[in-house]
Amino acid sequence: MINDRALAEIVAHLGRVAYCDGFVAGLSSAQWAALRYFYRANRFSRTVSAFADFHATTRGTASQTVKSLVSRGYLRRTRSRRDGRSSTLDLTDAGLDILAQDPFEALVGAVSHLPAEARIDLRTTLDAMMKEVARQRGKRPFGTCSACVYLGGNGARKEADGRCQCHFMGEPLDAEDMNRICVNYAAEFPCHDSTGEGSDAAPQDRRPDPAASRAS
Ligand code: SF4
Repeated sequence: MINDRALAEIVAHLGRVAYCDGFVAGLSSAQWAALRYFYRANRFSRTVSAFADFHATTRGTASQTVKSLVSRGYLRRTRSRRDGRSSTLDLTDAGLDILAQDPFEALVGAVSHLPAEARIDLRTTLDAMMKEVARQRGKRPFGTCSACVYLGGNGARKEADGRCQCHFMGEPLDAEDMNRICVNYAAEFPCHDSTGEGSDAAPQDRRPDPAASRAS
C-alpha cells in the first residue's frame, strides 16, 4: 500500500539534498535560489517582489538576499523602463559563471538519467502536485508563455515580424521571453505548466547554459 506521507517526504528530501544545508561556493541556499530564479525569469518577472512570490518568502527577506548578490557582483540592478519606480535584476557575467557550480545541478543530472517515459510521468505528477499546493496556498503558479491565456487566448496575435504579443503587458515577445517563467502567467484549468518549464524538451536540454545565455 502506498504511504502518502512517505512519498511526500521523498519529494521534500530531494529538495533538501538539491538545495543544500550549508554554503556552496560561498553562497547560501537562498542565494542560490535567487540566482536560479533570475536566470529563469522573463524580463517582466526579474523583480524582488516576483522573486519573493516565487520563493514563497517575504519581500523583506527576498530584498536582503538580492541586495547581498548585487553587492557581490552576481546581480545588476537597473531602473525599470516602464514605470521608473521598480528595478529589474539581471545576472552579471560573474553570476552566470557561478551558476556552473550550482548544487541543484546534481538533481538535474539525476532527472536526466531517467528514461524518457519516466520523465514525462514525473512531470505530469509533479505538475499536479504543484497545482494542488498553489491552490491550497491561494497562489497562482508561475509558468511560461506556451500555456498562458495571455498568449493563447483572447488578444494573442502575431506581429508582422513573426513575434508573438503578450496581451497582459502589451509588448512583443521574442523566443527567449517565451521560454522563461513569468509572474503574470495565467492558465485556465488545467494548469499546464506549474513547474515553470514551458516546452517538452528533455530535462538535459533545459539545463542552465550560462555561456549560451551570455552570447544571446
Ligand atoms: S503571455 Fe503570459 S507568460 Fe507570456 S509574458 Fe505574457 S503574461 Fe507572461
